[in-house]
Amino acid sequence: YLTDGTTPNIRRFVEQGFACVAEGSMPSFTCPNNMSIITGTPTSRHGISGNFYLDTTTWQPVVMTAPELLRADTILARFAAAGASVVSITAKDKLRRQLQKGLDLAAGHVSFSSEFASRCTLEENGIEDVLDYVGMAQPGMYSMELSLFVLEAGVKLMRERRPALMYLSLTDFVQHKWAPDTESARTFYRRLDDAFGRLAALDVTLALTADHGMSDKSDDAGRPNVIWLQDLLDARFGKGETTVICPITDAFVVHHGALGGLVRVWIRGAVQAQDVIAYVASLPGVHQALDRASACRQYDMPPDREADVVVISDAGTCIGASQADHDLSALEGHRLRTHGGVSEARVPLILNRPLNAAYRYRVASQVPKSYQVFDFAINGTA
Ligand code: ZN
Repeated sequence: YLTDGTTPNIRRFVEQGFACVAEGSMPSFTCPNNMSIITGTPTSRHGISGNFYLDTTTWQPVVMTAPELLRADTILARFAAAGASVVSITAKDKLRRQLQKGLDLAAGHVSFSSEFASRCTLEENGIEDVLDYVGMAQPGMYSMELSLFVLEAGVKLMRERRPALMYLSLTDFVQHKWAPDTESARTFYRRLDDAFGRLAALDVTLALTADHGMSDKSDDAGRPNVIWLQDLLDARFGKGETTVICPITDAFVVHHGALGGLVRVWIRGAVQAQDVIAYVASLPGVHQALDRASACRQYDMPPDREADVVVISDAGTCIGASQADHDLSALEGHRLRTHGGVSEARVPLILNRPLNAAYRYRVASQVPKSYQVFDFAINGTA
């Protein structure tokens, strides 16, 4: 895209600003990485290590989108507390309440999702009549417009209200469904690039990063390469001994069938974690099987929300729980493309302005984390 003219604005940022490959947070899912980026901290600090974790007092999966589960302040809230006006717009509403944590939306700040753009109220979102304001119809949950709406709203708000800090979070529907070399993906990137260009033209420091990458995880015949881990563990150690949680699971399962590159195994019976690890590590397609302490140390994750065993697949493989619980019919013949593992944790970090001397030295000696993107944009540009 950079060299064939699809993304001329991003090309200009790369040439005249700054670009590198940064390390994203693990697991390479939406919620952990959005929270890392908006708080400027690793998951060990802010606590959101997936879309779900298992509450071992009730053995029920707990959805991790509640603001009270987020243990760190957001950069938006700190800016707002210091008197700056801020805007947060997300494609998926599941992120909205954590992104706006600590924000007084009656004080002129704005926070909404394109998913629920038609329902915005001044009290809850700091803005109303959003569809008229942006001039777009309510985008569908599975459409590229769900992301493009976020950018159009951002351009308009930046032009008319000029907030000090704005966070725009898109969704990966397009990247799940289409490989980069397809016409649909190219169209999407062309439209993203066009919006990025219009944002940059408003004399702002624009920083681009991703919450995660994406890998094709199908075989030559187009069938998903899946490790059905709960089925395998039940067969090996007995039913009820372990509970596999797929922390990628959310309301948007159509495009990944709740299959990702990292799952968590809690032990309920007498089986030993080390025996589970030894068995799982021997399975083809497994990149790593780690105990809680090792996983948290290696990937900077919060131990109290971590499972007994963490399983990460390689780039070409994904992991599910029980085959019977995953509906893959919605893939409609598309190859399975998903994320969650180490292989999808490398992301771009791009700025439309060059780095100052101090940050040039910094990137010469260490790979930036994607959660440092606000730091780079605010403190690191010339
Ligand atoms: Zn995804």
